[in-house]
Amino acid sequence: MKITDIEVITLRVPPLHQESVWGEDAVIVKVITDHSFVGIGESDSAPSVIKSIIEAPSSNLYCHGLKSLLIGENPLEIQRLWDKMYWSSNYVGRRGAGIHAMSAIDIALWDIASQYYEVPIHTLLGGKYRDKIRAYGTFIPADKPEDNKVIARNLKNKGFTSLKFGGGILGDDNQTDVDIVKAIREELGDDFELQIDLASKWHTYSRAKEMFKRLSPFRLNWIEEPVLADDMESYQKLAHISETKLAGGESLTTRYEFRDFLTSAQPDLVQPDITRCGGISEMRKINDLAALHGTKLVPHGFSTGILLAATVQFLAATKDGDLIEYSQSTSPLFTSLVKNAPQFDNGYVTVPDCIGLGIELDEEVIQKYRID
Ligand code: MG
Repeated sequence: MKITDIEVITLRVPPLHQESVWGEDAVIVKVITDHSFVGIGESDSAPSVIKSIIEAPSSNLYCHGLKSLLIGENPLEIQRLWDKMYWSSNYVGRRGAGIHAMSAIDIALWDIASQYYEVPIHTLLGGKYRDKIRAYGTFIPADKPEDNKVIARNLKNKGFTSLKFGGGILGDDNQTDVDIVKAIREELGDDFELQIDLASKWHTYSRAKEMFKRLSPFRLNWIEEPVLADDMESYQKLAHISETKLAGGESLTTRYEFRDFLTSAQPDLVQPDITRCGGISEMRKINDLAALHGTKLVPHGFSTGILLAATVQFLAATKDGDLIEYSQSTSPLFTSLVKNAPQFDNGYVTVPDCIGLGIELDEEVIQKYRID
């Protein structure tokens, strides 16, 4: 079997001249073979940048476009192809967007392998530890603290036993942050599992330290990305003073960055995104590293049903993979792009015993939002 083509599709809900928020654009990769198998992957990154990294013509030894490296290759040789892409794009890739693009391709290759061997991806990964995964819902908070009560109430009523919020105005103003957390905690009750995501917007250790203290009465389960993941010294200092768990890592790629983050930042949780960190292959290595450090891995995930399907397969085959992020985005790229995405039901996402990612893309949604 040989790879014959790689198609990169970029999607966007708002027009190009308008700002896009999380979940409103996407890049999908289709790896096409000379058999009937087509693998699907995605990267939650800047779509046009990912398209360029894959489609770029070769420049020099370490600046190959990824597609040029893969045409004619056997798609079943997933790790060798990962290493080939990493080596041969390392001036332009090696971290950041280069690994994001490789992540999409890696997911597509696992999709193909599962179709070829006719067993689920979780079987190829070593076996299924669970039939369902507890899901926590992630929402972007409303600007007025009190308006978040109805959002939280509705999600609790849908069956969520764990919620997280972040983005929007969270992190812009200390008092507003406290007021939003207070309102939501009041609504959910003292024992409900609740976490917040600052998307690095507290910026400095001193501000984060103050906010950890001010928020401690609200018994948050974790505080995510109080500062940028590069600021590992601040992470480490926060880890040592805080009773609340410290989480981060969605912006990091490869086992190398996670090794440094685990060692230097000492978080309680790491959150690699399977569509950014290097795909299913690299996620497994990161999970092993996290386990060696006694750190739980809870993947980041806030994009389309492709990401969701890949994350479900990975977690199903991971010993401690018992918590998944479940986006509450209303973007059609989350709600409608994948016709049969894994569904949330009464607190859990069911692990499908499907072949491949088991997803069907809605071609009408693709045509409606395609920009390339
Ligand atoms: Mg986050």
